[in-house]
Amino acid sequence: MDGQFNDISATVEADRAHVWHHLFQHAALDHRDPRILVEGKGMTVWDQNGRDYLDAVSGGVWTVNVGYGRESIANAVRDQLLKMNYFAGSAGTIPAAQFAARLVEKTPGLSRVFFANSGSEANEKAFKMVRQIAHKHHGGKKWKILYRERDYHGTSLGAMAACGQEQRRDQYGPFPDGFVAVPHCLEYRAQWDDEDYGLRAANAIEEVILREGPDTVGAICLEPITAGGGVITPPAGYWERVQEICTKYDILIHMDEVVCGMGRTGEWFGYQHYGIKPDFVTTAKGLASGYAAISCLITTEEVFEKFRSDPDDPMSYFRDISTFGGCTAGPAAALENMRIIEDENLLANTNAMGDLLMDRLMELKDKHAVVGDVRGKGLFCGLELVADRATKEPLDEKLVEGVVGACDAEGVIIGKTSRSFKGFNNTLCLSPALIVGPSEITRITETIDRALAKLSA
Ligand code: PMP
Repeated sequence: MDGQFNDISATVEADRAHVWHHLFQHAALDHRDPRILVEGKGMTVWDQNGRDYLDAVSGGVWTVNVGYGRESIANAVRDQLLKMNYFAGSAGTIPAAQFAARLVEKTPGLSRVFFANSGSEANEKAFKMVRQIAHKHHGGKKWKILYRERDYHGTSLGAMAACGQEQRRDQYGPFPDGFVAVPHCLEYRAQWDDEDYGLRAANAIEEVILREGPDTVGAICLEPITAGGGVITPPAGYWERVQEICTKYDILIHMDEVVCGMGRTGEWFGYQHYGIKPDFVTTAKGLASGYAAISCLITTEEVFEKFRSDPDDPMSYFRDISTFGGCTAGPAAALENMRIIEDENLLANTNAMGDLLMDRLMELKDKHAVVGDVRGKGLFCGLELVADRATKEPLDEKLVEGVVGACDAEGVIIGKTSRSFKGFNNTLCLSPALIVGPSEITRITETIDRALAKLSA
């Protein structure tokens, strides 16, 4: 085997022959080499040919919040793995305990952390807790889980059952029962003409609850800002009303912070902009910035207490495990990741650079008729592209891909929302690392400017 991969072209061929890439149509590689990234530093990554790219999407899917090449995270993981790499179930580990304690400092009202590996998995844990609470505490009622059109919660079948993007679900059913859709809240694609759109969109959730029967509905799972479904920021007043409705009908609120968590929107968690009091928060991507696989569910003492020992019920505990939720690499990386966000004032940077990015994107909207709407919070932004501003007809997906490709050709990696809702695959997305500075913002937006100009050339 020695020497087999000395030549990078052998690695490229190994990738072409053996790796099944995520969310990717492999026919694209019939006419080009796969891209292999060999190095990353800050916001820059280098491919197998030594070409550099400015990464404006934090690892493709809004993950590498503190940037590439962080030696201190690598060292923290290395030291921890050499000391004690793993244990699950009956015993804890030092980094898990320390990280849990630090994490709940950022989520007042929540106090218990369940570790897992992926966003999907963390969401599944919440769904299972809701079901177990329904069996044990509501006599089998309150077992339904509401989810919202255009939101995404993961790839497993339970998470797919709660997926508001039919292009992701198509061809993977049947799904588990008891997941019920509520309307999305995107004002740009208004479904009602009420003046108080936030109130109207939230009341649409109440209508579903009343239709299903409040005593059947246990929880609602929502992204604070919908990510892959179109970077959808909520209309004013929306979340306040959602909170009121959930309190009124005793419905647990599950905020999916897989994308928005760990500073992406300028607060530690996205829900904190809106005064929501969640019962479950699930988070993953930016938790360790991709230096280790880690996700977690954070919940209240009240939920935790429902799973305490019951002399009449030996099955009262949460009968769930995540094998690699016991790996210490995750919490060790997450602890250092959190220290970096704090010590480098990255929340403040996210707010300042987010404002700058939003200003620049608004300028692009003024300049290019193809930009129908600009949305975002912090370093999490989307530009919805339309063929016609008046009718809001979505720009053809191939043309949207062309914009992404034109940026790539100039060495800037941007993203596009994918496989979304009713053909709305027309939003460019930007989620640079929280360390981004003005010069990178300028390069990103000037590159998009030129790419958009090509559409009308
Ligand atoms: N929730 C949201 C909002 C996501 O964007 C994603 C992943 N894109 C997930 C859950 C699933 O996370 P994972 O891929 O880690 O399972």
